[in-house]
Amino acid sequence: MSTFRGMMLNKTEAGFSACVSQIKPAQLPAEGDVEVALAYSTINYKDALAITNSAPVVRRWPMVPGIDGAGVVVSSNHPDWKAGDKVIHNGYGVGEAHWGCLAQFARLKGGWLVPLPAGMSSREAMAIGTAGYTAMLCVMALQQHRVTPERGEILVTGASGGVGSIAIAILAGLGYPVVASTGKLREADYLKALGATQVMDRAVLSAAGKPLQKERWAGVVDSVGSHTLANACAQTQYGGVVTACGLAQGMDFPASVAPFILRGVSLVGVDSVMASQERRRSAWLRLAADFDREKLEAIVREVPLDEVMVEAADMMAGRIRGRIAVNLH
Ligand code: NDP
Repeated sequence: MSTFRGMMLNKTEAGFSACVSQIKPAQLPAEGDVEVALAYSTINYKDALAITNSAPVVRRWPMVPGIDGAGVVVSSNHPDWKAGDKVIHNGYGVGEAHWGCLAQFARLKGGWLVPLPAGMSSREAMAIGTAGYTAMLCVMALQQHRVTPERGEILVTGASGGVGSIAIAILAGLGYPVVASTGKLREADYLKALGATQVMDRAVLSAAGKPLQKERWAGVVDSVGSHTLANACAQTQYGGVVTACGLAQGMDFPASVAPFILRGVSLVGVDSVMASQERRRSAWLRLAADFDREKLEAIVREVPLDEVMVEAADMMAGRIRGRIAVNLH
């Protein structure tokens, strides 16, 4: 292979640039012990921030973005992997400090990779991506805190987004009654097809509210933060569990301690980037076993590498529904 195609971000005195380039393998940073031919990547919210230069996600220039990739090992100096193994990569600062997966080829660390679960395709893995794997981490946290379907409704915020869409499908498949909070009420049929029992306007949750409100939710999957997370906590039932993984509305958390000290509500933080191998492997196995991948076709849209910049801008403008898989062939 003399060159491979990949997205390249750069910041110089002339400013920021993003384009699809021909990259020579010799340009790849030396760090990493497994070389992977990538079949699919995806655009996560963090990728969109990086590609549109909307937040300081990238910590080293130039940078190949793409926190997620799925493909086949070409060569390996790591004991766990050999040529031909099918692998998934999520997080670990790839696409931020280490060249990422929006490219046909990547050099990654063997300790970062997880095996592609049996029966799952690379395309399906990237249709799920970090967003879906994080949704599964949130569901696992609810279950670890003994939130069962009998305890009542689960609120999913940012419902039409990547985390939200997949969280709804997983929870509904497990028998939970799910209420989807969205700013896109026109997507109510989509959200119901994924399994939401009810769809609510996110405006109900997005403004400042009282510290304690009428108890409703047995559990929450929140990818929005800010007032939405504060109101979700204030509306959670006695002993209920709120999982917080995102900041689509804001990084602030304008809440009081009232739900925690008066109702025993638990707030569980969920991070996918540095999650242990044990947690990420078990999340991917659960995604293979407990998530109806037929629902992915309603959630995902496939695009070529050349359209990534336009899609990233649309994601930042809140115009994307569900997930995007990037075909790298
Ligand atoms: P998406 O862009 O796909 O979805 C975000 C959704 O949030 C939107 O679709 C929209 O849904 C809602 N939203 C957007 N803007 C606002 C706003 N101003 N107020 C309220 N709701 C808003 O992103 P992802 O689902 O991939 O990621 C969601 C969040 O989770 C991001 O902040 C991301 O950084 C974070 N994340 C964190 C991870 C972790 O490891 N902790 C891993 C993955 C993601 P709707 O129109 O339906 O309301």
